[in-house]
Amino acid sequence: MSPALINGDSAAHTNGQNGIKKPQTDGFGTRAIHVGSDPNPETGAVIPAISLSTTYKQDGIGKHKGYEYSRSGNPNRDALEQTLASLESGGAYALAFASGSATTATVLQSLGPNSHIVSVNDVYGGTFRYMRRVAEANQGLETTFLDLETADDETILASIRPNTKLIWIESPTNPTLRLIDISRISSLARSHPSNPLVLVDNTFLSPFYSSPLLLGADIVMHSLTKYINGHSDVVMGALIFPEHNITVFENVKFLQNAIGAVPSAYDSWLAQRGAKTLHLRMKAHGVNALAVAQALQKSPYVEEVIYPGLTSHPRNELAYRSLSPHARKFIDSLQSTEDESESGGFPYGGMISFRIKGGAVEAEKFLTSTRLFTLAESLGGVESLAELPAQMTHGSIPEAERAALGIGENLIRLSVGVEELEDLVADVEQALEIAVGKDL
Ligand SMILES: *Cc1c(COP(=O)(O)O)cnc(C)c1O
Repeated sequence: MSPALINGDSAAHTNGQNGIKKPQTDGFGTRAIHVGSDPNPETGAVIPAISLSTTYKQDGIGKHKGYEYSRSGNPNRDALEQTLASLESGGAYALAFASGSATTATVLQSLGPNSHIVSVNDVYGGTFRYMRRVAEANQGLETTFLDLETADDETILASIRPNTKLIWIESPTNPTLRLIDISRISSLARSHPSNPLVLVDNTFLSPFYSSPLLLGADIVMHSLTKYINGHSDVVMGALIFPEHNITVFENVKFLQNAIGAVPSAYDSWLAQRGAKTLHLRMKAHGVNALAVAQALQKSPYVEEVIYPGLTSHPRNELAYRSLSPHARKFIDSLQSTEDESESGGFPYGGMISFRIKGGAVEAEKFLTSTRLFTLAESLGGVESLAELPAQMTHGSIPEAERAALGIGENLIRLSVGVEELEDLVADVEQALEIAVGKDL
């Protein structure tokens, strides 16, 4: 299925000219564009055709070209899965799903009845809902929610039971951007006799900034809806597995087909097209977000800025230490051309949260005064978005829990897009002036 792994940073891929396999060790951007995207051997088309057929001719019973029925396998989905397996460093196999949520549901179902899992406490709302309101009732899944950022080793080890099958990590978390040390949690899981799988939802950083499989994780999941597709026009999800987890991969693949949690050919084609520019977009998202975070930090109208790339973020050192090899190369090349004292941080994805001075009134005024940041849920598209987690993405969390997680009425979340940096900074500054400046 997908290319074998040569080393952590670069996956081998075959350049399908005349079927001759040419193993290569290419960089991230090269893999994004070439893996899973060989020219069509019959027509020469450089871009894969969209294969809408649901069924495939057999030359004799059971004699076919690898495809029988499109729920079980489709050329566009296969092509996208090859791209994804190659982009997630350390990955060998990928599965694409109809949504991030279908991905979550299928992987949790694969754990079987009466399992236990440990999950980071401020996990994505839809994931929390599936764990607590669906999997608990339907398969007896028990979940221990832990603050995996601050919990000490003893607490984490004590939370692992004989039937603990999985540890679910999101890093950074949403919307308070807490960073979890993936290497540390993976070593703890390995050291316990239950040896649970470690799954990282890598949606927020994308495979460009973070490579959890290289840090010891067993499975990576993505909502492709966000950065990987990147154009806010596809809902999809994916799982990526390293070579040594082929059994888990096969088990989940069997379930995916049985459940039918598959994406359409057209969406697969669009997501692959999006993924080809992931490296370009993620660099621009990061550079823009750092500039916006620095502008927010300087503003008298802002109480606190949360961006793990800022040197003021409490876990800025962990952010740097856990960068993917390709992101580190990008960031180091930026910093060597800059005056170190001026930089004050490095690009680390496109998500920022900040607390505006004042409360709900100022927050809403800000959110309705931006010209380029659109007030909307979701994230990861080329266009900049802004939202109020307390009333939008996290509105269903009880108020006391929201307060404990630090999601107050003045916490604003930004998904910084790839527009021109100066325009985004100016937009945020003018909206702050309208929202708070006039009050002072
Ligand atoms: C959006 C999102 C999901 C769910 O994905 P859908 O494609 O919306 O179903 C899961 N995890 C994270 C971190 C997300 O942002």
